[in-house]
Amino acid sequence: MAAVLTRDIVKTFDEINAVNGISLRVPDGEFMVLLGPSGCGKTTLLRIICGLEQQTSGDLLIGGNIVNDIPPRARGIAMMFQSYGLYPHYTVRNNIAFPLRTQRMPSQDIQKKVGWAAQLLGIGHLLDRRPRQLSGGERQRVALARALVREPTALLLDEPLSNLDAKLRTSARQEIKNFQQRVGLTTIYVTHDQVEAMGMGDRIAVIDHGRVRQVGTPIEIYQDPADLFVATFVGAPPMNIVTCNGGGYLGFRPENFLPRDMIGDDGVTEFSFRVDRSEYLGSERIVYGVMDGFDSKQPITAKLPPAHVAEGSVRPGEWHRFAVKNSE
Ligand code: ADP
Ligand code: MG
Repeated sequence: MAAVLTRDIVKTFDEINAVNGISLRVPDGEFMVLLGPSGCGKTTLLRIICGLEQQTSGDLLIGGNIVNDIPPRARGIAMMFQSYGLYPHYTVRNNIAFPLRTQRMPSQDIQKKVGWAAQLLGIGHLLDRRPRQLSGGERQRVALARALVREPTALLLDEPLSNLDAKLRTSARQEIKNFQQRVGLTTIYVTHDQVEAMGMGDRIAVIDHGRVRQVGTPIEIYQDPADLFVATFVGAPPMNIVTCNGGGYLGFRPENFLPRDMIGDDGVTEFSFRVDRSEYLGSERIVYGVMDGFDSKQPITAKLPPAHVAEGSVRPGEWHRFAVKNSE
């Protein structure tokens, strides 16, 4: 296992900086998530780390050594792609063995390693099947086994769950995280999904336009966002941002914007809130509307626990007294 460090990495394609000076330290054994919108440079950074792409400038260090000129295979880093890239006409066994065959490892050793990786991922019973005979979750485990069979010092995952349906995604998140903790493998996990990022990351690096906006634990990112981009990218519905007199901003999370009578009296500021529509989501109700006297580009949202707000108690067109609850 090894720490991964990028030092002011820049990658320019056709005069566009896909990666615009990223310095990131991923300590040995950490699960680091790169979170950002599509096109912000996540995949490009991963491809540079594993050596599939050469950076325009900057240094890459693995285990403390500069590896800028070391070819991909010698870096000891495994990458698992979004599409898994399994060979359809190969059995699971031969898919997992493939990286070792290209290394010309003796076949007895290959069998041992394949057995080890298959056991690690719990797919020993699937070795003679072909990818089309597997479920989405099983394919993912085969792809992981293939990534791990060379015992990499770090693992890179590029949106590995985006092909799974919502239910499977939840269990697959848990599986990847459990596996990573068990093995203690340094992992860099790319996603545009903030739920994955919050649920899985030891730390999250929020990226926008090829730059890191903030690095921190999920709690730090959510409770103390470094700027407006981070504040509105993380959280669903996003943080409410209103412009105040004098040009400042006021930001508050939907779960902290509540009917006045649900909040105590300590230092509370009240607002008049016009309800435009509301959505019942089972565990909560999302209310969209407008705050009297404030400008916002987006509708203001409130997230209400349904136990407190019976259906019909905030109807479209009505004005209500709302307040922002201090988030301790
Ligand atoms: P992400 O993975 O965050 O969606 P990418 O790293 O794939 O973003 O892309 C970042 C930017 O670099 C995008 O604007 C993309 O169009 C551009 N880009 C990526 N690869 C290439 C390439 N091989 N040639 C030209 N532009 C590219
Ligand atoms: Mg990508």
